[in-house]
This record gives sequence, C-alpha cells and structure tokens, in this order.
Amino acid sequence: MFTLRKMKAVIRLKREAYEKIVATLGSQKPEQGGYLISEVNGQNVKVIDFIYDFSANTSAAAYSPDTAVMSPKIGKAIASDKYITGGAHTHPDGYPVCSGADIEYAQDIIDAYDSAFFDVVIGQRRTNNSLDLRFYRVYPRNSHKKVELIPFEVIEDYDTELPSSLKATHERITYRKYDRINQAIDLEMMKNKHIVVLGCGGSQMFSIDMARCGASNFTLFDHDWYKDENISNQFAEISNLGRGKVEVAKEKILDINPSAKVKAVQRRFDNNISDEEFISLVGKGIIKHPENYLIAAFTDDFYAQARAAALSVNLGTAFLAAQMYMNGDAAEVCFAYPGVTPSCPRCMMESRYQAYKRGFKNNVTSSCSTIFSTQRVNALCGLVALMLLQYGSKTSRYGRLLDRVADRNFIQIKIAPFNNVIKNDIFDEAFDKEYSFCDGAVWIPQEPNESCPLCGGEGNLLKSKDKIKDTRRALI
Ligand SMILES: [Zn+2]
Ligand SMILES: [Zn+2]
Repeated sequence: MFTLRKMKAVIRLKREAYEKIVATLGSQKPEQGGYLISEVNGQNVKVIDFIYDFSANTSAAAYSPDTAVMSPKIGKAIASDKYITGGAHTHPDGYPVCSGADIEYAQDIIDAYDSAFFDVVIGQRRTNNSLDLRFYRVYPRNSHKKVELIPFEVIEDYDTELPSSLKATHERITYRKYDRINQAIDLEMMKNKHIVVLGCGGSQMFSIDMARCGASNFTLFDHDWYKDENISNQFAEISNLGRGKVEVAKEKILDINPSAKVKAVQRRFDNNISDEEFISLVGKGIIKHPENYLIAAFTDDFYAQARAAALSVNLGTAFLAAQMYMNGDAAEVCFAYPGVTPSCPRCMMESRYQAYKRGFKNNVTSSCSTIFSTQRVNALCGLVALMLLQYGSKTSRYGRLLDRVADRNFIQIKIAPFNNVIKNDIFDEAFDKEYSFCDGAVWIPQEPNESCPLCGGEGNLLKSKDKIKDTRRALI
C-alpha cells in the first residue's frame, strides 16, 4: 500500500473531513464509524475525506463495518494517489483508548494490504454534539512497536472550487449554458451575489436551481447527512446516503456551474457559531457589501431562523425564510430587503417569538409532506430570491418586482386542498371559491412593529444595522 520512511509522524485533517466525523459520529450513540481517505507522504498523513459507514452493524459495545456498502464507496474515493489510512469510530464514555480488538482489526487490514500502518481514531462524545478525537497508529504484527498515539491538527481552509483542470474543461464545454436565460436574468449582477443558506435539506433544490440561474457564490450550513427516509422527502439518492447534505449540494452546484465557489459547512447553525465566526465563514465581504448578500433560512429550528433574521438585519443583507406547515399542506415565505421592505422578518412574527418565550414547542415534522410540497415552496423561494438578488437591475425582468410587494413581504401558500391547516379565511377572501381549489399564494400586507427588538419599527431597515452586539443574545 505505502511504505514507511523515517520521519516524525504528523497527521493533518482537512476541515471538511473533520466536520464530517464530528457531525456524524458526534451526534449519535457510541460505536459508530467510518473510513479516512488520505494523501500519504511517509509517516505523514493528510486526511482529505471521511466516509461515514451509515449502515454499519453497531451495538453498545462494538462497531463492525458494512463492507458490502463501504467497499464500492471506498473504491470510488480512492484515486491513484489516495489511500485508506485509517478508520474512526466512537467508544462509550470513559473508554478513549484503542482496544485490543481495534488493534487486531487494524493489523488484519495491514496484513491484507501490506501496509506500514493503519490509524485507529477513537472518538469520545462531548456535550454540544462535539467530539474529542485521538489518533492511534497501529503497526504490523511483526514490528516491535505495536501502537502509538500521534498528535493531529485540523487544517482550517475549505475547498470551495473544482480542481483547476476540471474547471477549465467544464467551463469550455458549457459556454452556452445560460443562453436560454440571459434575456431574463442580469448575469453580471448575479455573479457578484452571495447566497448564504442555513438548512440544506428540503431546500437543496433551491440552491442548486439558483446555480442554474447564474448564482456563483454560496455558503451552505447544515450538520445533517442523508438517511434513507430522505429519499422520499428530500433530494437524497441511495448513492449519497451517509453523505453530508451540504457536501452533496456543493457537488451538484459545481456540476452545474463550474465557475461557482461553494463553501460547505457541515455544522449545526447554533450558538456555537459566534457572529465573528459567521462573518469569517461567509466572507468579510458581507461587512463591506451587504447588498450583495442574501441570507436564506430554511432550517426547521425556530432559534436558528430567529438568529438568521437577527444577523440579516444587523448586517444589512437581504433575507429570505421559508417554513412548511403541517403535512406539507401549506407554507409561508417571508423576505426583507433593507431600504425597500419597511418591515423586518421579526416585525411580522412577534407573536411567534412570544409563544416560544412562553415555552411553546413546535411539533410540526416533515411527516406526510411529499416532495412536491417541498418543490412548491422552493419554486416560490426561487422567484423571491431572484427579486432580491436582481433588485435595481435595468436589464433583468426581476429588477423592479420588489417595489410592488415591498410592504407585502409575508406570503402564505395553500399547497394542497386539505382544509385544516390555515384557519384564517384569507384564502376565501383572496380567491373565488368557484375557481379556486389549491396552490394559491397570498401576499399579505405587513406593517413595521414599533416594539420590534430588531428594527424598532423604523420602517427603514437601513437604519437598523449594527445595533446588536451579539445576535445570540437577541433571539427572544
Ligand atoms: Zn473500538
Ligand atoms: Zn422589525
């Protein structure tokens, strides 16, 4: 496999591989595992990827790999200069060391592949879904040193682009890709825009289809990975099970727009991410040119949605959020644009904030919601995003649409004809019963709320920038 040279061993772990390990193994009971794909130079290992063994047979005390599922994935991942250098798995609390069985297993692999070593990474779960990792290097059975603990470091930068040779080829063969939309969309303007997406489950198609509309800069946040139930209700394929939702979205976006830059952050968007870290992850451009940024909040977590709204008002970016109602029968979409929409995202939701303050818990799940409900919401979000990202363009069809709905920045859609979700009769008022059934949208007038903690009901969101020191403290 690879040979051992006399060097001091160093293990480096690319940020994305590290996040995958933490997001998958760190969020579940112990004895979950997967494999490390690395570049190797003597004893030095640079871990570039982690393949989560999502279907492994695990018990409270042991992890055994699903080789039928893992072998083809590993084969695909290993290019000529990449190797499987180890495996990572979690142990129950208080057992941070490599067990005898772990060493035996590693030495079997060493024998089978005639390798110089195999790294066994043991994870211990901490609170906040974080994970402490230890790298043990296991050596062949005939060597005098059997196992040793090796220090590791996480390399902080993300890969955001296609490799340059692939990018050049893909750009060359797709030079006409925007021919059908360049009369409708101001592509030059689009190139400068940056979409920050929080929650990439049901919204994955939104991000991907924005790339089809010329969007080129994305930062995607989602800690979750594809499970088999996501085949029916999200955009998962069997071949992508176990992979991060952001990782798959990034791959699909780059397969549509090879010039795009996509940062895939496989982390939960919660209070472990400070405002400073958020800014450094999405790029400092958000401070200098907030008008180029859209924060799109598609999580199913109220606090994450509230934080996104606070960040957007505080930083002065455009904002878009969507929420599916029970059974996928209806949904809401809200948006804001500083200097155009008088109401901020919190103005229109204050009663919901108050309910959460009183201890309300949302029990809406994605159960019963088909992919078509999701697609319906994504389609509306796409239209609103084009209105926000193209605002002011003289050549775009979408350049002035926002002015027409500036004070109607809360939309409800009745997606399916079941009549139990939206109790108000706003749809009856908006649509003649004789002609309507379902799939109607109402754009509901909003007024700035004087007691809104985010914008103070000023009626001009440009005045509400930089008022909050730490948006984590401004949620409810
Ligand atoms: Zn073990
Ligand atoms: Zn407000």
